[in-house]
Amino acid sequence: MKKCYLALSFLLSTYAFGANLHYSLIQKESGQKEESTLLVIGGIHGDEPGGYFAPMLLAKYYTIVRGNLWIVPNVNFDSIVQNKRGIYGDMNRKFATIDAKDKDFEIVTDIKKLILDPRVDLTLNLHDGHGFYRTKTIDKNFNPKAWGQATIIDQQTIPNAKYGNLAHIAQKVNQETNIDLIEDVHEFNVKNTNTKDKDKAMQQSLTYFSIKNNKPAFAIETSKNITELSHKVFYQLKTIEKFMHEMNIEFSRSFELSEANIQTLLADVGSLEIPPTKIMLELSNLKPYIRFFPINKETFHYKSDNPLVAVLKEKDEYKIMNGNKLISTLKADMMEFDDSLDEINLLLDGEKARAKIGSLIYTHKSFEIAPIQGYRINVIGYSKEGVISEDGIEIEPSALMKSYAIDKQERTYMVHFYKDKKFCGMINIQFKP
Ligand SMILES: [Zn+2]
Repeated sequence: MKKCYLALSFLLSTYAFGANLHYSLIQKESGQKEESTLLVIGGIHGDEPGGYFAPMLLAKYYTIVRGNLWIVPNVNFDSIVQNKRGIYGDMNRKFATIDAKDKDFEIVTDIKKLILDPRVDLTLNLHDGHGFYRTKTIDKNFNPKAWGQATIIDQQTIPNAKYGNLAHIAQKVNQETNIDLIEDVHEFNVKNTNTKDKDKAMQQSLTYFSIKNNKPAFAIETSKNITELSHKVFYQLKTIEKFMHEMNIEFSRSFELSEANIQTLLADVGSLEIPPTKIMLELSNLKPYIRFFPINKETFHYKSDNPLVAVLKEKDEYKIMNGNKLISTLKADMMEFDDSLDEINLLLDGEKARAKIGSLIYTHKSFEIAPIQGYRINVIGYSKEGVISEDGIEIEPSALMKSYAIDKQERTYMVHFYKDKKFCGMINIQFKP
């Protein structure tokens, strides 16, 4: 499988009031006018990972060649990292009315604006629902009250709207999704909630807000009863692709859409920089607990190429999350930072090389950091009596204490740079076998 290295990076910020973590909006546009725009909203319910890992993959691995795709993969990010439906209440019941003091006020107001943007033609709201929706009751999991494996519409049609034939479109999309199911019982069906007449709760929902404003919207529900995340993501992506097809939105992706490939992509967590350019961590193989991690005591900024990555502060520990998954905990050394160092000289297996501060460097047998006037070097996991700055020393893996390595394979070590007592950034050195 060809791997795609993306230029996307998501700077993460917080709200002044209300929610803590900010959602991302990724706008993929082909640049052609008069083409359709699909808006995909993921993670409105924080305990429904199929509904947010799928749009994360859309954001990272899809290129749009005709039409436009706008993606909000993590709308209820505070609830996602806690794996709860809605820590400030159910966000999907706040689209009819919302109190200005509600913690979700800012987010819901933003999303309403996005839905009403004249360029947006159709909105999808992604969920994992319980059971498997069927028109007739079979048992407690397969029945008309279930929500899983369904495309949800609020009514049959929106007269005079582009893509207003909701029932017909949902039917067509499902027919195509139902080819090549992982298991036959995973088939998708159209569920019409008849929201206007029958469903008071759904009248507060995101999709009904859109419908009331004459703009088509659907919910896609994979099943909570499907335990493999990659299966849910497979069905979500398959369905979203069919919607794009219906809307003449053309895309390319760097992988074949299969459950096995999705599993591989989900295992690649991406990278994290805290703060940007000074420290970089590859997240996929990070140890669950890392000590002596420098954190700027004045400001805290980070960025990731994965929009589901968040760093949560708890006293002097920083928890790195990928959606609802805890990747690692950093035990912080709070210190002042200094910006004066950008590149350093070093020897890798005896050969001269240069490295950018904040980069990951590979070597086989050894490395040696060249002295830098006025700076002190600390190789974490190395110590030698009487040595203050660990430069000019050829260091092999045998001289390093494995417990200080930051990756699970225990081959990657941090090298810290200091000016007086201020931290200037780090490089990470990985020994390749
Ligand atoms: Zn939901």
